[in-house]
Amino acid sequence: MSATWKRRVAPACSADALVPELSGRTSVVGVIGSPIIHSLSPALHNAAFAALGIDWCCLAFEVADGDAARALGGMASLGIRGLSVTMPHKTAVAGLVDDSTPVALALDAVNCVIRQPDGRLLGHNTDGAGFLDSLRHDAGIDPHGMQVVVVGAGGAARAVVHALGTAGAASVVVINRDGERAARAAALAGGCGRVGTLTDIEAAGLIVNATPVGMGPGATESPLPADVLHAGHVVVDLVYHPAETNLLKAAAAAGAITLGGLGMLVHQAAHAFTRWTGLDAPVEAMRTAARAALGDTGT
Ligand code: NAP
Repeated sequence: MSATWKRRVAPACSADALVPELSGRTSVVGVIGSPIIHSLSPALHNAAFAALGIDWCCLAFEVADGDAARALGGMASLGIRGLSVTMPHKTAVAGLVDDSTPVALALDAVNCVIRQPDGRLLGHNTDGAGFLDSLRHDAGIDPHGMQVVVVGAGGAARAVVHALGTAGAASVVVINRDGERAARAAALAGGCGRVGTLTDIEAAGLIVNATPVGMGPGATESPLPADVLHAGHVVVDLVYHPAETNLLKAAAAAGAITLGGLGMLVHQAAHAFTRWTGLDAPVEAMRTAARAALGDTGT
């Protein structure tokens, strides 16, 4: 399983990047999505393989919307050991795998495919576990018994709401523009989930932004008005670029504990790594690689 790792200087890599000697024995995993060019998955997983010195590599595959079935067929026939799945394929892949884990079934979304020893493809979803790990390990917060507000009701929100329900949150209130989507997401928390409004923020202990507001074109915006935040809040933004969004700046100014989305990204990838390789993931090596890929030295 161990690999020869050569130090090379390549245009797309730093001078310190370790590039494996690929061979017929190399185990291949990949990430599918569209657009895929900015995916951090290859950087995260190749750093993890290098850190453990194992003969695996991760590649990014641009797969057009509607083409997930052909991609999974290729995965099976090429012997690719695992796939990360990102937009727009998570729901489609949930309907294409041979077997599903309970969390993938509950969310009807797959972000991780594992090729099992018999060749059957197992669909899993590591987003919720990655969120909980980041909350617990990066911020020292256990959501058990907490009142939580989740802003947004898309794929990331659904995974977070489901995870918070399984983790024993006292209540999970979903705030979203589209009320029907909010209700479907809130139901994933089980009996403790419901749809809410901004008035629920005051009493919450934990607030999670699961909208894209704060990144890209919306980078100057915040999903919540600053005056609803206070020092009793833990505020998590699933957005990871920029590392400190306007929401987190406002939360920090109000005295709240803050956590960005990079930890969730790293921990969900770590869960995929372990599913594929059977090994504990070198989480800090993955975090360092993610920060380097984002041009963020971190603190
Ligand atoms: P998604 O499925 O498209 O859902 C987006 C959600 O945000 C929807 O509920 C949508 O509301 C809401 N929304 C979008 N624009 C909005 C706006 N301008 N104002 C208010 N609400 C708005 O996206 P997703 O996959 O869940 O991703 C959401 C965010 O989480 C993204 O920033 C993504 O990068 C991040 N994320 C991070 C991680 C991580 O590991 N850190 C993992 C997954 C996702 P409607 O339902 O009303 O349209």
